[in-house]
Amino acid sequence: MLPDGVEWIREEVRLFDPERNRVVTAKRKTIDYDFLVVATGLRYDYERIDGLKREMIGSKGIASVYLNDTLKGEEIGGKSTWEWFRQIRMAAEKRASGKPLKILFTQLSSPVKGQGTGEKTLFLCNDMFRGSSPFGGEDIRRNVKFVFAKKEKEFLGIDSYDRALEERIDDSGNMEKAFGDDLVEIDSDRQTAVFDYHDFEKTEWNEKREAFDVVPVIKKAMMKYDFIHITPPMKSVHAVANSPLAWQTGERKGWLAVDPSILRHVEYPNVFGIGDVLGIPGGKSAGSIYREGPVLEKNLVAAMEGKEPVTEFDGYTSCPLHIKCGETMPNSIITVWRLRYLSIPYKPDGYGGFRIFICSKRSTSISFCGESCRPETKRGLEFEGRWKIVGNHETSFARSVLLH
Ligand SMILES: Cc1cc2nc3c(=O)[nH]c(=O)nc-3n(C[C@H](O)[C@H](O)[C@H](O)COP(=O)(O)OP(=O)(O)OC[C@H]3O[C@@H](n4cnc5c(N)ncnc54)[C@H](O)[C@@H]3O)c2cc1C
Repeated sequence: MLPDGVEWIREEVRLFDPERNRVVTAKRKTIDYDFLVVATGLRYDYERIDGLKREMIGSKGIASVYLNDTLKGEEIGGKSTWEWFRQIRMAAEKRASGKPLKILFTQLSSPVKGQGTGEKTLFLCNDMFRGSSPFGGEDIRRNVKFVFAKKEKEFLGIDSYDRALEERIDDSGNMEKAFGDDLVEIDSDRQTAVFDYHDFEKTEWNEKREAFDVVPVIKKAMMKYDFIHITPPMKSVHAVANSPLAWQTGERKGWLAVDPSILRHVEYPNVFGIGDVLGIPGGKSAGSIYREGPVLEKNLVAAMEGKEPVTEFDGYTSCPLHIKCGETMPNSIITVWRLRYLSIPYKPDGYGGFRIFICSKRSTSISFCGESCRPETKRGLEFEGRWKIVGNHETSFARSVLLH
């Protein structure tokens, strides 16, 4: 897949030195550059949850579909979660319907890649008990109870999408949500999860306002579970987070400090970024990358020619929501344009506000295929020059979009 003129150095970058226009690899190789594109993705921070170790995932009833290590080339989350599904199904078959298994899905407060993945996994898991999944069997949904716990008090923060999901949950009869609950600790032996619940408490009566004053409080809440699925906290990779390339303060601290519209670094004009590493508002998704690719291409070429950036990223992100095996949510929003931060006026058919794609039945990943296969996003980067790719695994999505 690598075009001519690209040299692939299969090493991890340990140090970014944008003052000297160079990077240093794990094997202490120094590489100078004229222009730099950072596409290092993100890392999972399972250990932020007290009592949890990465190695525990896949045992003790704990799963995480995210579990992988792109530096090592390990992608085991999907496979081990499928196995987790199978184990729950077997346990549920032995359960009496009056004593359902409790299956907990958690999502913490941090930027999440593949927004909606926790929700998808929840719905697919429930589908497995219906008997219609590849596992087959009887409909034993009455033997399981799901709780979806997350710190935010909404699913994706988009009214119509969230309403559709709430309806699904309410109609299911075996799912409930626990919003405001942020997982902080896990006791795997006692099968208990501990949450910080972010709330407000009344203090004194305020005569002027004729209301009680309120202060934010964090209360502890415990929840027993039989099985738990964890969406991990996500962070920028160390080399970026500890470099001058990262935002140094604020809620995006550690993520690559680019201008969200032109994808160029805010301080180093010869540095660009793409993919999950970006410290910009909005989604971290493959869908976003397909839109970022052409923007990066044009602005990078302009910079190489000494010109100003010529185009802007619109903040697009997408998330096909699978609610059954082989089926995305019928007549629901599966693709969303989030442009609030760019202040582009709303245009129903254009690049403003929300644009909604309606998904018909039985169309897996319709948005993904539909969108990502658009000819303009598949266009290659065809310009002269030498590229060096520094990285030691081939799964970088951003890289493949750039080089396609
Ligand atoms: C379970 C799951 C479901 C998802 N569902 C969807 C979906 O439905 N729709 C959607 O659009 N997106 C989805 N996504 C998100 C999508 O997969 C990611 O947004 C995308 O893969 C990110 O690509 P990236 O190239 O930025 O990062 P990655 O693919 O993580 O690649 C980063 C690369 O950088 C390398 N690297 C890391 N550190 C260094 C370093 N210091 N030096 C050199 N190289 C380094 C790594 O080895 C890796 O090869 C999902 C993701 C997951 C995990």
